Amino acid sequence: MLSGGLDSILATQVMLEQGIAVTPVHIKSGLTYERRNRLTDRQASEESKAERAARMLGLDLVSIRAFQDYIPVVLNPKHGYGSQMNPCVDCRIYLLRQAKRWMEQHDHQFIFTGEVLGQRPNSQLRQALRTVERGSGLEGLLLRPLSAKLLEPTIPERRGWVERDNLYAFQGRSRRPQMALAQEFGITDYPQPAGGCCFLVDKTYSRRLRDFLDHEGPDALTTEQALLLAVGRHLRLPSQRRVVVGRHQGENAHIAGLQDQGILMTTLDAPGPTTLVSGDPTEREIEQAARITARYSGASDRKAVRVKLLNDDGLSTIITVAPLAADEIHSLMI
Ligand code: SF4
Repeated sequence: MLSGGLDSILATQVMLEQGIAVTPVHIKSGLTYERRNRLTDRQASEESKAERAARMLGLDLVSIRAFQDYIPVVLNPKHGYGSQMNPCVDCRIYLLRQAKRWMEQHDHQFIFTGEVLGQRPNSQLRQALRTVERGSGLEGLLLRPLSAKLLEPTIPERRGWVERDNLYAFQGRSRRPQMALAQEFGITDYPQPAGGCCFLVDKTYSRRLRDFLDHEGPDALTTEQALLLAVGRHLRLPSQRRVVVGRHQGENAHIAGLQDQGILMTTLDAPGPTTLVSGDPTEREIEQAARITARYSGASDRKAVRVKLLNDDGLSTIITVAPLAADEIHSLMI
């Protein structure tokens, strides 16, 4: 399982050093920072972290998309959430089950990951590693080369497919041993460690997700909606309708592509954000959203700002509004 982070790169190199034939598999949950950046930032690299790592290791990456069937894992995690809405244990189980299916269909013998014992508070404690192994149906077939010497020997080690003596005993949050090993292998091109692999660990994102579930219900949570929660500013009008306002060109371009999800708007008198008012808003709600849009535009100091509306039939209208006061906006923020 290759995420493209340093640990998974090292785990792969450790296996390659033993002469083991490796196929790197990357399961895309669809909710990664990388996916958001690619949607919203035109400068973002087209090559993913995992693709880059596989290229560096000289291997062909297998990418598997996990989208809509991943959402129930996020909504109902059997093993609960981490510090935010991150269901890390269930997520790992889900991702490994996908990898297991691929392994069985393609005549491979076992799976290894870059997990390090005790590195992450929720999903990499000894008990959690065991739960993930059992839950994914990979008992004995899930090797963690970087911490293997601290864990029960797996089938690949017991059968001598893998030399246990040449595996490692890393544990804890320090990355120093991994960095030293990278140097030993001559690996210098790797991403810096991030706080988590997806935005479910993010506080603001999790608050928005809870708000979405409270107001719109779990059935409304498509992958597109889950992704939109990571884009722009999110506000709820007094009527509870949701408004999403782009923060920069990339986000505006993404929101502009969501014409089928409600009314889009932007300012005419000065550069301004693209705003989405979800669903079928009333005139009052449209006016309030237009005032919010005007506040975030370059014409926020004017008394009257023209805002162009585009509905889902592609018809446009222009209305003139006064920008909403900054403190009023603050109270609407999700
Ligand atoms: S941080 Fe996100 S992708 Fe990573 S294990 Fe947790 S829920 Fe899954």
